[in-house]
Amino acid sequence: VDYFKGKKIVVLGLAKSGLAAGTLLHKLGAQVVVNDLKPLAENIQALELQQLGVEVICGGHPLEILDGKIDLVVKNPGIPYSNPLIQKAIEKDIPVVTELEIASIISEAEMIGITGSNGKTTTTTLIYEMLKESKRVPLIAGNIGTVACEVAEKATEENILVTEVSSFQLMGTEHFHPKIAVFLNLFDAHLDYHGTRKEYGLAKAKIFRNLTTDDYCVINEDDAEVMMLAKEVIGQKVTFSVKKQVENGAYVKDGYVYYLDEKIISIENIVLPGAHNLENIVAAICAAKLAGATTKRIVEVLSTFAGVKHRTQFVTAINDRKFYNDSKATNMLATKVAVSAFDQPVILLAGGLDRGNEFDELIPTLEKVKGVVLYGETAPKLEKAAQKAGLTFIEIVNNVTEAVNKAYEHSDRGDVILLSPACASWDQFKTFEERGENFIEAISKLE
Ligand code: ADP
Repeated sequence: VDYFKGKKIVVLGLAKSGLAAGTLLHKLGAQVVVNDLKPLAENIQALELQQLGVEVICGGHPLEILDGKIDLVVKNPGIPYSNPLIQKAIEKDIPVVTELEIASIISEAEMIGITGSNGKTTTTTLIYEMLKESKRVPLIAGNIGTVACEVAEKATEENILVTEVSSFQLMGTEHFHPKIAVFLNLFDAHLDYHGTRKEYGLAKAKIFRNLTTDDYCVINEDDAEVMMLAKEVIGQKVTFSVKKQVENGAYVKDGYVYYLDEKIISIENIVLPGAHNLENIVAAICAAKLAGATTKRIVEVLSTFAGVKHRTQFVTAINDRKFYNDSKATNMLATKVAVSAFDQPVILLAGGLDRGNEFDELIPTLEKVKGVVLYGETAPKLEKAAQKAGLTFIEIVNNVTEAVNKAYEHSDRGDVILLSPACASWDQFKTFEERGENFIEAISKLE
């Protein structure tokens, strides 16, 4: 691709996506300048790029970087548009894009794009798994996989790119043109970044912008706002619902999941727990079917796939107690969703970083559980909420390992033991992933 050759491009913000974009653009013959806040001496990514011969400016965001003729600014999705450098770029009419735009321009493979407030990673992974034995080799890109532009560079027509796209990424695209665009749902999220809910919805709806009549738009019939945003879309509409039968798409009826008139699987045989996952599943079936997945493979995935790590992931069963790792639940809403995913009695493990909030909002959720084991900074506050919920079994321990042991002591056959902390992990762990691993390890020592 010659598109970027000779162009002068500023890459703003390093981390994983900036490093990938900078490296690729340099390789494609662009004249790249990389700018990052972190000082050069401690900036591994910047040093790596410097070795390649890329110009790096670190330790601040000097406005002079944009003096002279600049063709393009590639920004990290997390950098807000209020950033002075971005403001200056906009004033100078320099296009400001994210690395997804580079991926869109260079990809020879067709793409499936998945967006929404919640369930992106799960749905993306499901579609990827369902497509594994189809004609084209699927490649996964985005949050869980490799940065989109890096995957796109390696992709050929023999591939299909399954790409998770956030509203932040979509804001910075002009050429993003998925063959299949999936829009899951819209909740209040990231309003600090997007300003209003309307703007947030419109940013996400950019996923539809370049669709033609040959393309597909996969949308949630149970979400009125998503349906509204897709109203004028050019592209064939395929819908999904867990509440009613739909005309063209996937749905749930009498305990079975259907695609069009075809009975796909009984809900009983699906491993992923929860009504929220059922939504992700019907969405994934639509996209996978449109991209050529077989029913056999779809059934195989649904009857074995235990979930993306740390997202209500089934870990194991010991003496008829099932363990689930939902360490990704760093707020109350996520814990609420996780708890309501189960019909069985739940013993909830929760606690973590104290952000100053109380946990009264969690009381209706706590009322549904059998008991709680609390740990971390927020344990006393969670205890107060658990008492208000009238729970009789409330234990406070020092850490996740002790919590697993205590929960197991209290458990009966048929119980679910669920780690869904409702808090960030940073009081005791580096990341939520580390917390989840710690949970899994503690379980393995029970046996
Ligand atoms: P994302 O990538 O959009 O953050 P994930 O698939 O990683 O989504 O799921 C994160 C959490 O969001 C899950 O643990 C669950 O609590 C919640 N969630 C997932 N899917 C849905 C859905 N369809 N509706 C509501 N909440 C969901």
